Amino acid sequence: MAETCFGKELRKLQRGLKTRGRRWVYVPYDQVTDALGPLSRENPMNLGIVLVENPWKASLRPYHKQKLALILANLRHFGLEQARRGIAVLHVVTRGPYRTALEPLVKELGAIQVMEPAERELRIDLKPLVKEKAIEFIPHEGWLTNRDQFIFGVGESPPWRMDSFYRTMRRETGILMKGGKPEGGRVSFDQQNRLPWKGDPPAPSPPAFPRDPIKEEIGRLIEQVFSHHPGRFDLDHLPGTAPDAQKLWEWAKKNCLPLFGPYEDAMSTRSRGLFHTRLSALLNIHRLIPRNILTEAEKMKIPLASKEGFIRQVLGWREFVRHAHFATDGFRALPGGNPPVAGVPGDGGYRLWAGKPWPSLRGGQDPDGGAEPNFMDCKSPLPPAYWGEKSGLACLDRVVEDVWAEGYSHHITRLMVLANLGTLLDVRPREITDWFWIAYTDAYDWVVEPNVLAMGTFAVGELMTTKPYISGAAYINRMSDFCIDCRFDPKKNCPITHLYWAFLSRHEKLLNKNPRLAMPMRSLAKRGVELQRKDRVIFQTLQKLLAAGKDVRPEDMP
Ligand SMILES: Cc1cc2nc3c(=O)[nH]c(=O)nc-3n(C[C@H](O)[C@H](O)[C@H](O)COP(=O)(O)OP(=O)(O)OC[C@H]3O[C@@H](n4cnc5c(N)ncnc54)[C@H](O)[C@@H]3O)c2cc1C
Ligand code: SF4
Repeated sequence: MAETCFGKELRKLQRGLKTRGRRWVYVPYDQVTDALGPLSRENPMNLGIVLVENPWKASLRPYHKQKLALILANLRHFGLEQARRGIAVLHVVTRGPYRTALEPLVKELGAIQVMEPAERELRIDLKPLVKEKAIEFIPHEGWLTNRDQFIFGVGESPPWRMDSFYRTMRRETGILMKGGKPEGGRVSFDQQNRLPWKGDPPAPSPPAFPRDPIKEEIGRLIEQVFSHHPGRFDLDHLPGTAPDAQKLWEWAKKNCLPLFGPYEDAMSTRSRGLFHTRLSALLNIHRLIPRNILTEAEKMKIPLASKEGFIRQVLGWREFVRHAHFATDGFRALPGGNPPVAGVPGDGGYRLWAGKPWPSLRGGQDPDGGAEPNFMDCKSPLPPAYWGEKSGLACLDRVVEDVWAEGYSHHITRLMVLANLGTLLDVRPREITDWFWIAYTDAYDWVVEPNVLAMGTFAVGELMTTKPYISGAAYINRMSDFCIDCRFDPKKNCPITHLYWAFLSRHEKLLNKNPRLAMPMRSLAKRGVELQRKDRVIFQTLQKLLAAGKDVRPEDMP
């Protein structure tokens, strides 16, 4: 096989480099940084790193092409960046669990260290080698908080609440605190951050990043080897280098952070990201370091509601979900009894949409498919609309289009359109979780599972949230412009409103003791038998039509 441009460049940089006598560190795909761990403090001449590319991992789920490109570009560029510092770089390709690539190397290089992986899937993969002391887990220095602080903030046993955790972390870290009190007199300014966006001030366009031979080679690889993966691949918006990551952060500071707060909950057809920073994909692979981001954000001269809103996401939500995932072993160990675990990685509804199974390189050593908690006992498949078939619901179609265009949409579209609709349709929580994992460039088990299973679909009940995040058309209409061009009318015939009432009615027994739902439950009772019957029939009809991949019209509704 012809040598790749990346291989040639790496070989050139390492010519004459001594590899013997070095201490070796394995750098997983989501730890591409030299600002943490041994790489941040030891003499590069004494260190070597192992980088593993793995088509097997890529094939386990039908991941978005842009996600594969992001991982590959950053891994390869990181290898070259480290080789330029004098670090020895061993780049290997494997087609199986990561341990199968690392095990033979240990014989050659001696025990290999790795910062404890954030992804449970990788931790489990490496566990046999850790037991044999061939691999040593060292602390992951990218996190801002530790397990003791989590327990101190929320207690050992669930339910856990982000607000308590965040309040404690503000005190513990001193971030946005003055003389032991929160700046501005309040810990959270969330109540102020609920404006819809009408087009003014203008939302920034995300930055483009320079192409280079390494990225272009990855582009060819995606076209040749991963062309069957879904999603649009866009080389010009692929941050693959350390300077690209810095460029994104500078763009976010200048264009997003000053207005982050007020429009945090807004959604629009005119801007995919509004004033959201798009940092998550790079934070999660550590191209950007959460601690540095927070320190800089705290010093910025911007309105406090925006500053606090942003800091709450990174210091609060991001850390909180990771602790909840770790403490429940990925939702496998839950207080009310352990849920079943799927045997193999799920395809997020690919099969129903594509009419054929996802061709993975599966073997006998694959990971399991993750926990399947299902508090509401939801059993429906994810409609093909999530894979790009038109549903006729403008909000859903628009957000899905955005996701397949770039592997990203912001928080409220994830929560109040995609997860909301999935929940209202009684979609299997595991299936929609797998879809998010597949479709988003920032998704890894530790972050996608809590956000979808706990927050988006209420599949673990009140473990992390007080109630399901659901809404009818009124919320979507108030916070977005999606309804303007929809064939349904949010005030007259939008099926989502009927789905909302049908959901409350169907799950009344489970939900009517929830004090946060007392008001909607009273409204449901006032709705009367005839309207409730209509809600139910619309739910059944829409569920059937969407499962069949139909483009729904008002005249299809009873
Ligand atoms: C159903 C659902 C699925 C989600 N799946 C993921 C996922 O797979 N990966 C992921 O990183 N986030 C996920 N989130 C959280 C959040 O939506 C994204 O982190 C955010 O939209 C990323 O865009 P941004 O960088 O523009 O964020 P911004 O709005 O600019 O926020 C700044 C940063 O805060 C962090 N953050 C904010 N909220 C959360 C949260 N709830 N959990 C973790 N970090 C958070 C992110 O690192 C983000 O980059 C999900 C949320 C929901 C409701
Ligand atoms: S009318 Fe209903 S389906 Fe159409 S965009 Fe609005 S909320 Fe969505």
